[in-house]
Amino acid sequence: MELFDKCLEYYPIVAEAKRTGFYPYFRALDTEPDRRVKIKGKELIMLGSNNYLGLTTHPKVKEAAIKAIQKYGTGCTGSRFLNGTLDIHEELEHKLAEFLKQDDCIVFSTGYQTNLGVISSLVRKGDVAIVDKLDHASIIDGCQMSYGRAVRFLHNDMADLERILAGLDKDCGKLIVVDTIFSMEGDIIDLPNVLKIAKKHKTRIMVDDAHAVGVLGKRGAGAADYFDLENQVDLIMGTFSKSFATIGGYVAGAHKVITFIRHQARSLIFSASIPPPAVATVLAVLEIIKSEPERRKKLWHNTHKMLKGFKDLGYNTETSCTPVIPLHIGDYTKAINFWHDLYEAGIFANPVIPPAVPPGRSLIRTSYMATHTEEDLDEALEIFEKVGKKAGVI
Ligand code: PMP
Repeated sequence: MELFDKCLEYYPIVAEAKRTGFYPYFRALDTEPDRRVKIKGKELIMLGSNNYLGLTTHPKVKEAAIKAIQKYGTGCTGSRFLNGTLDIHEELEHKLAEFLKQDDCIVFSTGYQTNLGVISSLVRKGDVAIVDKLDHASIIDGCQMSYGRAVRFLHNDMADLERILAGLDKDCGKLIVVDTIFSMEGDIIDLPNVLKIAKKHKTRIMVDDAHAVGVLGKRGAGAADYFDLENQVDLIMGTFSKSFATIGGYVAGAHKVITFIRHQARSLIFSASIPPPAVATVLAVLEIIKSEPERRKKLWHNTHKMLKGFKDLGYNTETSCTPVIPLHIGDYTKAINFWHDLYEAGIFANPVIPPAVPPGRSLIRTSYMATHTEEDLDEALEIFEKVGKKAGVI
């Protein structure tokens, strides 16, 4: 087979979906990614972002980003390792470490690169990464990039985690890596028991707080804060592409471990650093997370309203208990049709189909923002009622 033959075979599937209007991907917004958006002039209620605190459009956050461009320019044109470190990168790392109650922190250019770099630098030949079956793709890819072995345990299943750890060589290096809020299911990892099991089997633990930072915990500092287990997790990683309203990633932990990662993580060393406006955005958002807990409160109000609204309508939201609320549809063509009807009726949501989920487990992922109003959500529920009844889902 000629190398490009696979592309020629693939192309008609995409072209046909686009021709018929059943192509849900790469939809370009004409507006800011706010609670309501426009696509080719059509207004939609945005239920498909990760902008949990709604801060991408906050005047103070925008102003901080603009000021950073004025002072530092648009980009760093190099890796943190060489020419790409600014004083504000260091300020951000210091403030994040403090916020997360960890010793030290290093900032990467994306959350994806953070997982690649951290896992592949720490899990070496002879070591084992133990990951939840539904962990994010960047964790799986980080394991593939490492020279160690990866073993998966059943989703949030502590008996299976215990079984796997009991079967491993007790002297090898072991790292459990788990999402804290799972990005498609919207459930929360059983962190207290993961920690107990990890301790028993002398295993290090790294959490992916991508969807939890700014969302979970009394201070909005993520899962460790939520479970009152601060200082007990070895490594906390997260991303700036959700509540932090920009792009980038970080990992926080003990100073000597972070120093090792700084010098060993290939995705950090061989990639340019996050640009000044992104750094300034995170610094501004961090202050808002600390000083405006009412935003988090509103996000949870909206979350509970929608979880109850969907349950009352008869939707299956399975184990979701966070601002990520999937509607389980099943068959993938049904999910695409469902997405299409939602879109036509004025809702932006994301269809999730195989291979992102197992066959027969297709869903519509919805997610909520602190800035959604009661009217936004009431209107959305009315649409979900109409579309769900038409599709025979409820
Ligand atoms: N981890 C999780 C759980 C995620 O959901 C994501 C992004 N969807 C990432 C890591 C990667 O983050 P980023 O967008 O910063 O690359």
